[in-house]
Amino acid sequence: MLSRSKARAWITFCLHVWWCARGGGAQNAKDVILLDSKAQQTELEWISYPPNGWEEISGLDENYTPIRTYQVCQVMEPNQNNWLRTNWIEKGDARRIFVELKFTLRDCNSLPGVVGACKETFNLYYQETDSEMGRGLREDQYVKIDTIAADESFTQGDLGERKMKLNTEVRVIDSVTRRGFYLAFQDVGACIALVSVKVYYKRCWSIIENLATFPDTTTGSEFSSLVEVEGMCVSDAEEEADNSPKMHCSTDGEWLVPIGKCICKAGFHQKGDACEPCGRGFYKSSSQDLQCSRCPAHSFTDREGSWRCDCEDGYYRALSDPPSVACTRPPSAPQNLVYNTNQTTVNLEWSPPADTGGRNDVTYRVGCRRCSWEPEECVPCGPTVGFSPAQAGLVDTYVNIVDLLAHANYTFEVEAVNGVSDLSRTQRLFAAVSIATGQAAPSQVSEVIKEKVQQRSVQLSWQEPQQPNGVITEYEIKYYEKDQKDRIYSTVRSKSTSATVNNLKPSTAYIFQIRAFTEAGFGTFGPRLEITTKEEATAAIVSSEQNPVIIIAVVAVAGTIILVFMVFGFIIGRRYALAGPIDSPLLHCGYSKADQEGDEELYFQFKFPGTKTYIDPETYEDPNRAVHQFAKELDASCIKIERVIGAGEFGEVCSGRLKLPGKRDVSVAIKTLKVGYTEKQRRDFLCEASIMGQFDHPNVVHLEGVVTRGKPVMIVIEYMENGSLDAFLRKHDGQFTVIQLVGMLRGIAAGMRYLADMGYVHRDLAARNILVNSNLVCKVSDFGLSRVMEDDPEAVYTTTGGKIPVRWTAPEAIQYRKFTSASDVWSYGIVMWEVMSYGERPYWDMSNQDVSDASPSERSEFTL
Ligand code: AMP
Repeated sequence: MLSRSKARAWITFCLHVWWCARGGGAQNAKDVILLDSKAQQTELEWISYPPNGWEEISGLDENYTPIRTYQVCQVMEPNQNNWLRTNWIEKGDARRIFVELKFTLRDCNSLPGVVGACKETFNLYYQETDSEMGRGLREDQYVKIDTIAADESFTQGDLGERKMKLNTEVRVIDSVTRRGFYLAFQDVGACIALVSVKVYYKRCWSIIENLATFPDTTTGSEFSSLVEVEGMCVSDAEEEADNSPKMHCSTDGEWLVPIGKCICKAGFHQKGDACEPCGRGFYKSSSQDLQCSRCPAHSFTDREGSWRCDCEDGYYRALSDPPSVACTRPPSAPQNLVYNTNQTTVNLEWSPPADTGGRNDVTYRVGCRRCSWEPEECVPCGPTVGFSPAQAGLVDTYVNIVDLLAHANYTFEVEAVNGVSDLSRTQRLFAAVSIATGQAAPSQVSEVIKEKVQQRSVQLSWQEPQQPNGVITEYEIKYYEKDQKDRIYSTVRSKSTSATVNNLKPSTAYIFQIRAFTEAGFGTFGPRLEITTKEEATAAIVSSEQNPVIIIAVVAVAGTIILVFMVFGFIIGRRYALAGPIDSPLLHCGYSKADQEGDEELYFQFKFPGTKTYIDPETYEDPNRAVHQFAKELDASCIKIERVIGAGEFGEVCSGRLKLPGKRDVSVAIKTLKVGYTEKQRRDFLCEASIMGQFDHPNVVHLEGVVTRGKPVMIVIEYMENGSLDAFLRKHDGQFTVIQLVGMLRGIAAGMRYLADMGYVHRDLAARNILVNSNLVCKVSDFGLSRVMEDDPEAVYTTTGGKIPVRWTAPEAIQYRKFTSASDVWSYGIVMWEVMSYGERPYWDMSNQDVSDASPSERSEFTL
């Protein structure tokens, strides 16, 4: 048997050798130590039973630090059962406990004289308890962990030296459920030195991974189970959407399988394991962006941690603009705005703005205002005006504007806009043009109502077109039998908004369409209206209306009469044209205003020629009769004088309103006869009304009536808003298109042709004697017999006697006082020159004498 002291000395020696060879005991920093026998320098005072079994022995490690060991070596005697129990080990939050044993074990063969009883293993046990137990030791309460054998035992070397091997064995106690436990070592007859006992569990230590902090985490209880741990984002970081950070703590105390991550918030970027604010002049708009970026053009930030940069003054960012794009500004005005008018249609075209404001979303919008001829008075165009392709949001640089009013003045403003235009409070920049529209045909006649349907006639009424575009002088009713193959149609004309169409067949379906006529021509026909005439009452009753023999006879007689009138009228007309007015008592007597008042003329077989002829009021013995023959006597109470607009030869000219019973009130010009007039002056004054009252044409100023039975004596005329043409043109110099100017001339020509057809010679046709209304319609005015001599400031005395407006008058009229429609045509030529030159003085500064001395060919050299 090995004596105790010998064995101790031997083991102490061996320990020393081992420590030196090992270079010291390295400890795993991640482990949480519950018991480390080596760390304790005082006596361990574990329980050893029986007392002669395990023995606590002090030793020194390589640093000569004292360590405590337990040894047993009862190899000579059989049936050994020596127990050694540790103190109570509180487990804390450990779930899986590791027990590391370091020991040396003597090879039985190396022990001299040992037989049978020598063992080379020992057993490891544990007992779970919630608290410390007494010092008693009951074997049956222990659970065996394992039998521990040495990997290396130490023995005698080949050369006789002794080799010492330290064994390290680690065993695991899975799942300790009580608060603590004891370990116990059972020796059954081996020679062992228990150099150290270490009890520990593993932990995953707090780390920062993917900008998330994971706390210290105890490993799971069973082998291979991973503990899932949620990470917490570091400051100024946020979880990535649907991807919260997680890690798994393995039983080995390793962090495994990172899932999800945190990312630095907007305004912060990652530096190492932290988020730092973006510097000044930099921004990061989203947590998704990795880096801070420099502020885009025209923006800045003077603080740290910005998620976007602010725009410089005058620059903006649209709502849809991401913070990464430069700040921008509204575009400059479109360039080179040009227009093209065609009647009531205007085309505008322009070039893009010189400066788009730094954006590529430039569109255009068009403002439209209708202005009176006084520029300040403009109103928005309203919804009736059409814009093609659109009024706003135009991508292309053109727009077509339709349904404008005829003869109206419009201002169009084309503005370039981009995504920041509405944010800017700076003044809007646009290109503008003022355009005057030309004449246009009236719009469609709608709402046709069948007032009365008979067997052979249909009575219709309708509304005036919504846009008459001028004065409607008549309507044309077109109709045809619905089932007729070749669609031969007939027309009836009416001056009012109703008409009766006669000579229809009974029980027959007819189609009716109506269109309006103005000086600009016919409008388009309105929708078709189908009407079936009534059935014949009875076959037995044959009225004269239905008797074909009577019809033929009536038509034959009427035809003959009309033919006679046409031939007669033509001859008279020719005489008028060639010789000037004829004071014919026959014509005078034959004329009856009432005869002319029939509203309709049947056109499909005969066209009635213009039979109306001018009658010189001088031919009336009683001038009062002439006035009342041609002019309506008005009640002075129907007239409201508003203001004075000019001075006439006989008194003031005023503007005002005329409200006749049952009619809407209209604007009128009122010429007054000044108080204290002589009878001749009264006659001459009213003479103009007697002449004017005979005319009914859209281009001749219309007489509303006269007031002769009260004072002052008045002549009431339609109001012409823009006054006389010469002054109007001079005021709007260069503002009209050639088409508009020619349109004015066309109107004057139509009025003059009408007067010539009536046999009236004007004698003083000049732009100053043409009046212009708000629709730019020109009308011939200034009628009076003595007027040329007395009234016209341009009239000068000539060698032939009498005052003549030399510059406007034909040579033969100057020389021989031969005034005819032909000399009016000469004057018309001068008016053409005046219109096209915007009211220049004919022959400029040539004297009247030089003008009248110049031959016609010399005069024609005065071109514009
Ligand atoms: P008169 O006596 O016809 O030469 O008219 C004198 C001035 O009155 C004209 O030059 C016009 O400016 C004005 N005037 C005459 N008639 C009208 C009218 N119907 N509407 C508007 N202004 C008129």
